[in-house]
Amino acid sequence: VLRLEGVRKTFGRDTVVLRDVNLDVAPHTVTALIGASGSGKSTLLRCANLLEEIDDGAIFLDGEDITDPRADADTVRRRIGVVFQAYNLFPHMTVLDNITLAPRRVHGTSRSQAQAHALELLDRLGLAGKASAYPDRLSGGQQQRVAIARALAVRPRLLLLDEITAALDPELVGEVLNVVRDLKGDGMTMVLATHEMGFAREVADQVCFLDGGVVLERGSPEQIFGDPREERTRRFLRRIV
Ligand code: ATP
Ligand code: MG
Repeated sequence: VLRLEGVRKTFGRDTVVLRDVNLDVAPHTVTALIGASGSGKSTLLRCANLLEEIDDGAIFLDGEDITDPRADADTVRRRIGVVFQAYNLFPHMTVLDNITLAPRRVHGTSRSQAQAHALELLDRLGLAGKASAYPDRLSGGQQQRVAIARALAVRPRLLLLDEITAALDPELVGEVLNVVRDLKGDGMTMVLATHEMGFAREVADQVCFLDGGVVLERGSPEQIFGDPREERTRRFLRRIV
């Protein structure tokens, strides 16, 4: 679904964040990006969604080079759903309007169709009855689930999740992770940046350790967490668990 080839991303003259990143995301799989703070996980996701321009290399979505200058960023973003750490819901809009905005504006879906789909998503994410609520009336976990519903509303090919539980109180983390488990069960292709190693181990098909601007090591959760090849991976995992 998604492939990064030799991706390089620098900020200014001296900050090389991604030096030479290669990554392959197969359909219906979950890829977890792990690595120290500042290792470039968020930057990688932002590049994949064309929020950042890369300096070298290429990114392919379903085989199409989306970093080609002729590629249309809007068309690409319609096929990728993104959820960030801070939920970024529009505070002056109801839950329903938050979710139906993109399908209606960007995809030209009719209001009634968009609303029917939104209600279906809310139901599935355990938020039935919250359609007319405003975001500030919801808990953090509920807001984050609305953000996921909003990302799903455009029926994306791929979901990018950046640290989606990092801003939540511990007791609310579980309900959001449950949603990710469910989506995996449905076969949604996802790439997630996370510091939750237990969750990465459970849900990921592939774990990528970012270090020094490259994917230093990639493998199954069993391999990466159980028997990492690289000393730096070992050291990282020792430090955080
Ligand atoms: P964390 O685990 O803390 O979320 P991360 O792995 O997501 O970290 P990034 O946010 O991708 O790391 O940042 C990687 C590096 O790029 C950092 O050194 C950061 O300071 C730098 N960086 C990110 N965005 C910009 C920007 N817009 N301008 C300059 N430097 C940036
Ligand atoms: Mg980050």
